[in-house]
Amino acid sequence: SKGAALVAAVAQRLTSLRRQVSETLSLFRLKEEQLQLVKARMRSGLDAGLRSKSSSTIKMLPSFVYLTPDGTERGKYLALDLGGTNFRALLVRFKKQTSRLYHKIYTIPLEIMQGTGEELFDHLAQCVCDFLDYMGLKNTRLPAGFTFSFPCEQSAIDTGTLVAWTKGFKATDSEGHDVVSMLREAIKRRNDIDLDIVALINDTVGTMMSCAHEDQRCEIGMIAGTGTNLCYMEELKNIEKIEQRATKTEEKTQKGEKNENAGAEKNKKDGEMQKMCINTEWGGLGDDGCLDDIITLYDTEVDQNSINQGKQRFEKMTSGMYLGEVVRQVLLDLTRRGLLFKGHVSETLKTPGIFETKYLSQIESDRLALLQVRSILQQLGLHGTCHDSIIVKHVCLVVSRRAAQLCGAGMAAVVDKIRENRGLDHLDIAVGVDGSLYKLHPHFSQVLKETVRVMAPQCDVTFQPSEEGSGKGAALIAAVARRKRDV
Ligand code: BGC
Ligand code: MG
Repeated sequence: SKGAALVAAVAQRLTSLRRQVSETLSLFRLKEEQLQLVKARMRSGLDAGLRSKSSSTIKMLPSFVYLTPDGTERGKYLALDLGGTNFRALLVRFKKQTSRLYHKIYTIPLEIMQGTGEELFDHLAQCVCDFLDYMGLKNTRLPAGFTFSFPCEQSAIDTGTLVAWTKGFKATDSEGHDVVSMLREAIKRRNDIDLDIVALINDTVGTMMSCAHEDQRCEIGMIAGTGTNLCYMEELKNIEKIEQRATKTEEKTQKGEKNENAGAEKNKKDGEMQKMCINTEWGGLGDDGCLDDIITLYDTEVDQNSINQGKQRFEKMTSGMYLGEVVRQVLLDLTRRGLLFKGHVSETLKTPGIFETKYLSQIESDRLALLQVRSILQQLGLHGTCHDSIIVKHVCLVVSRRAAQLCGAGMAAVVDKIRENRGLDHLDIAVGVDGSLYKLHPHFSQVLKETVRVMAPQCDVTFQPSEEGSGKGAALIAAVARRKRDV
């Protein structure tokens, strides 16, 4: 009959719609073999980056952090933290085995993030001045650690050239400049405060250090937040770029020239400096096209709309600043194809940045009923049915799951490398980790751990959420740096 035919047609249409949605979602479901490939590519990127001449997409930046703190750190330190959308100034006091921390958060207006370098650093100096004033410390000269969460080419613990801005930053006249000098000059221009900047620190390194303080096994630091990155302790003999410098200085010294690396050389002979912390900048994986086989059209769209096109491709698939955008691109496409929101592409859906990480976390929460998901979407200005909410939730789930798996595959490459470095069949290691995705997302950390377990079966990896990596960790590094400088 006609009725039965109609019912059949509707059923068929529904099946077809469902199939189309599920085909789209499956683009994000990585097979075990694909993850193995990612692990292998990460590994060759790590190896290539350690060699001096080769240009690897994984920068493998020496941090000049050799020592783990020994718990004897004392005194007051300032930590300055520039990384995401905020700047934080912190005062860290070490007393006996404990530390106390005071801080203030300053927002960085978009026009300053994307203005001139001088304006940006003047703004930072202004914040530091306000903080010192607030703490009643304006007339002291405190040792400071500068946590600067962008790739810097360092030649010592207290200098570093910005290689390239990442995340939302693009201040002019900064790339290629020493960011410590830029901060010192901004402070000099003010002429009302004084700082002794003793260390430049990537946030991953601060995170590792703050955990190493509690757990000797901690030799990796990881950030899964607005951006993504990892650092780890590498054998000095494997860091060809540093080894070559050391050899050159030795030759110079023999010729009677001044040995700038004398302190380092002395420590090395003392056996203290067998390892240096390397900031991998693993977010650059794929910038040579090596991830093109897993990159979807949605990832490409997100990259095209970003201010650093073609750069940080791994980061753009794995970190908070971009995951919501990947989700939005999928939703846009599904809507245009008539598979979602009755085919109505709203202005909201066309708005970049609507899906902040915190919304992804809420939408994906197991504790939330579908009606609540629907009401979150409504608050965002996306009006749909409960069925639409199910689809949106699925999109969020696959995008964030892929992110966690990719980070897990990368982590597996790192721990296996460390294990091989030491000629071990089995490695026990701890990772200090920080960032909103890791700490606040309902599934990210679980999927990450599970992936590492499966992909690095010879390693036992303990994850330790860091407390105040960029504050306490930075202060610890500053303490060690100052101790070394002053001996
Ligand atoms: C930066 C890294 C940083 C990471 C996490 C990335 O965009 O390049 O230096 O560690 O974000 O903040
Ligand atoms: Mg941070």
